[in-house]
Amino acid sequence: MPRRRDLERPDGPPQVWGPPSGTPGDFNDPPRPSSEPFISPYHRDFGTPELVSLPRRRERWWLHVLLFLLTLATTTWMGTGFALNYRPSLLPPGADVLDLRGLLLGALSFSIPVLSILFAHEMGHYLACRYYGIDASPPYFIPFPSLAGTMGAFIRIREPFRDKRELFDVGIGGPIAGFVVALPVAAYGILHTKVNLLPPAAGTLVFHYPLAITALQKLLIGHTFSSLEVVEHPALVAGWFGLFVTAMNLLPIGQLDGGHVLYAVAGKRHRLFKWPFLGALAVMGLYFKGWWVLAVLLLIVGLKHPPLMDEDAPLDRGRLLVAAFAVFMFIVSFVPMPLELIEEPSGPRRPPPESSGTVVHELDLHRCPEHSRLDV
Ligand SMILES: [Zn+2]
Repeated sequence: MPRRRDLERPDGPPQVWGPPSGTPGDFNDPPRPSSEPFISPYHRDFGTPELVSLPRRRERWWLHVLLFLLTLATTTWMGTGFALNYRPSLLPPGADVLDLRGLLLGALSFSIPVLSILFAHEMGHYLACRYYGIDASPPYFIPFPSLAGTMGAFIRIREPFRDKRELFDVGIGGPIAGFVVALPVAAYGILHTKVNLLPPAAGTLVFHYPLAITALQKLLIGHTFSSLEVVEHPALVAGWFGLFVTAMNLLPIGQLDGGHVLYAVAGKRHRLFKWPFLGALAVMGLYFKGWWVLAVLLLIVGLKHPPLMDEDAPLDRGRLLVAAFAVFMFIVSFVPMPLELIEEPSGPRRPPPESSGTVVHELDLHRCPEHSRLDV
């Protein structure tokens, strides 16, 4: 629970914090309007919180900046792989080897969009917390020296949510903000992605696109393509990653964003969904092992959601509509098997049907050997 160690803060201006049913005037929180005796799940599980003098934590900004810079370094480093894969269009005229500047620009066209999407996502949560005066840390970015170069980012929320409204707004703020930034990033990537007519080599990593990317393809270039038919611009990989992160966070389990939203919408009935959704994750793990990793992490962190002080008051109609939008975002961002490793090289590639049409020019068709994929 509300992390009692957080209540013992050494410095900063004092802040008074207490139970919502406390004596009017004694607490920062407005008194609960109802006068009947009420035992909330919060009080049942943790007892009535005592009046505490609560100095606000002094943020360790240097740590947040350091983690951000480290994550910028690891995502740019991993971005060089995507840039080399996409190499021909980054080459200066007449050159056949990518110079350092071209490589760096290509890598940054992956890392900067990825960090922008993650930053927007975390700011969505953080600003919602600030709006409600909930004590929350700035984003911690997690550098990771493989795959996308990061394991995402998170903020620490140091106070319990008082009602469903706060829980919902803080929970949904991140995915909406990340989704809104991921779409134009993916659109830019789609417009700069190139056709690849060579068969994929063994060890090639293939992206399976979510509906959002397929729909953007149709909208922007008039037809769709699969990852096997193209060499993705690094920004398309970034947009794909942003949508993947959005979908993963919207899984309605535990303390993921989707878990917060489900709790806010379903109230105490959210517990009924816990095991079925975890079971679904276990089944999906048969196709993509990453879901098992996520399931284990969720089990380690704990599936139990800290109870709200008031879980009975229903959510308003406007927020229920936003919850429907969250379901929409999940559907268009989610892919059960996001990545696939090609183990056996396939035979000669069949040209994509679009190559005979006119629209393919928008994909900047080159057929030189440099377009073969590099293994990442
Ligand atoms: Zn989130």
